[in-house]
Amino acid sequence: MNKWDYAESIESSSIVNIQKKYGIFIDGKFQSSNSKKSLKTISPSTEEVLSTISLGNKNDINDAVQSAKEGLKIWSKLSGTQRAKYLFKLARLIQERSREFAVLESLDGGKPIKESRDFDLPQVAANFFYFAGWADKLNLSWNTNGMKPYGVVGQIIPWNFPLLMLSWKVAPALATGNVVILKPAESTPLTALLFAELCEEVGLPPGVFNLVTGDGTTGAALVQHPEISKIAFTGSTGVGKYIQKETADRDIGLTLELGGKAANIVFNDAAIDQAVEGVVNGIFFNQGHVCCAGSRLVLQEDIHDQFVSKLEKRMQSLRVGNPLDKNTDIGAINSKEQLDKISELVNNGVDEGGSIFQTECELPQNGFWFKPTLFTNAQPSYRIAREEIFGPVLTTLTFRTPEEAIEISNNTEYGLSAGIWTEKGSKILWTADRLQAGVIWANTFNKFDPASPFGGYKESGFGREGGRHGLLSYLKVQS
Ligand code: NDP
Repeated sequence: MNKWDYAESIESSSIVNIQKKYGIFIDGKFQSSNSKKSLKTISPSTEEVLSTISLGNKNDINDAVQSAKEGLKIWSKLSGTQRAKYLFKLARLIQERSREFAVLESLDGGKPIKESRDFDLPQVAANFFYFAGWADKLNLSWNTNGMKPYGVVGQIIPWNFPLLMLSWKVAPALATGNVVILKPAESTPLTALLFAELCEEVGLPPGVFNLVTGDGTTGAALVQHPEISKIAFTGSTGVGKYIQKETADRDIGLTLELGGKAANIVFNDAAIDQAVEGVVNGIFFNQGHVCCAGSRLVLQEDIHDQFVSKLEKRMQSLRVGNPLDKNTDIGAINSKEQLDKISELVNNGVDEGGSIFQTECELPQNGFWFKPTLFTNAQPSYRIAREEIFGPVLTTLTFRTPEEAIEISNNTEYGLSAGIWTEKGSKILWTADRLQAGVIWANTFNKFDPASPFGGYKESGFGREGGRHGLLSYLKVQS
């Protein structure tokens, strides 16, 4: 070991108690699925089977809807203050058991423990606290006063931030008086199952929170159920479009949080070292499995060589490996399917003529891994510059004038997020005004706050999560 190597510092997984098999959570308790079918959930860093989960079918979804309707009868009679008490209790329990949740999230999803521990879990608790605070104030705010909850809400979440996406959806829905049926991603169901145990522990009335695990067919059954009043979905644009078509002829609420291909624009007057750090965080956070990842580096031409050289040096120091090692910067790719998708797009980038740089790290033998990757000499027409790769892959495009930066940045079917790096406040405002993106960071990236609305333009979806705008997604006008 040379003096710059890090000794391993592995977080113990003994704190988690993963059951061999899980049922579905309906009527406030775990029960067997009607389908009697199951799926395996594995650890993407070792390919070891962690547990067997139920593959929910149409009958399970129907049972969950009937349970939710009963739950709604109880939930709708409670005052905002009483609903808030349950949410505050959940928030406190999440904090108390945050280490357990963080280890479980890293085991099941492959993300580094330092991210699940220091980012995901504090954000999850903060979301429950934030929306708990709103539950008794809805009639005091001009934009929610007099509005009514939808009722039975179906929520479908992805695998990149499993518990955080649960909190983004469940906390505002319950705070506004709705009841929930949640379908987590098939590759990362374990933290949602632990959350269901917490709902039992806090004595949440039966039927207020229901959890049906399964695959895409389970999600489709939820979308198709005629007694659902609202669907909230986070995931791919393809499935989002399917859901929009499927619900088009029904009187139903819909929010879609879909993909992205964010531009992280660096002007030549930016603080270069800070910008390098921000660009690294923007794309390599959570292995790049982030809908708002800064996956296109839009770089002013006269600083290209200097910037790329610093960036490559910084990338070389990223530690890829065991998600439970506290030193790890980049964990495992979430699934074999996702690894194949990333590899296919990267190979295509090389074939199309991009110059590729990959760090020299050693990848573990088992599990799914991808080296931090940077493309230069790419054209805006290349697939690596247009498609969401959802992996640790950054594509560089260059510009000469601010107008050209805007044109390149907006030249995408997506519009979820963007970053601006410059020392001039006026340039930040000028640029932000012209970018078609729902969230724009200036001289920083990937900063989140439960009070701030998050959502997209164009094919990144519609509706907002977080903040007062996030409350509106769960309320309808009734005059
Ligand atoms: P999906 O959109 O397929 O999955 C998101 C959620 O939708 C999961 O719970 C999934 O279940 C469920 N689902 C799948 N098919 C249907 C359906 N027909 N009706 C209702 N629900 C359904 O994303 P993938 O996991 O396949 O990822 C593919 C790509 O999507 C990624 O490479 C990335 O580009 C993008 N993506 C974007 C995300 C974002 O945050 N915006 C998050 C995840 C992915 P199950 O997991 O069981 O299939």
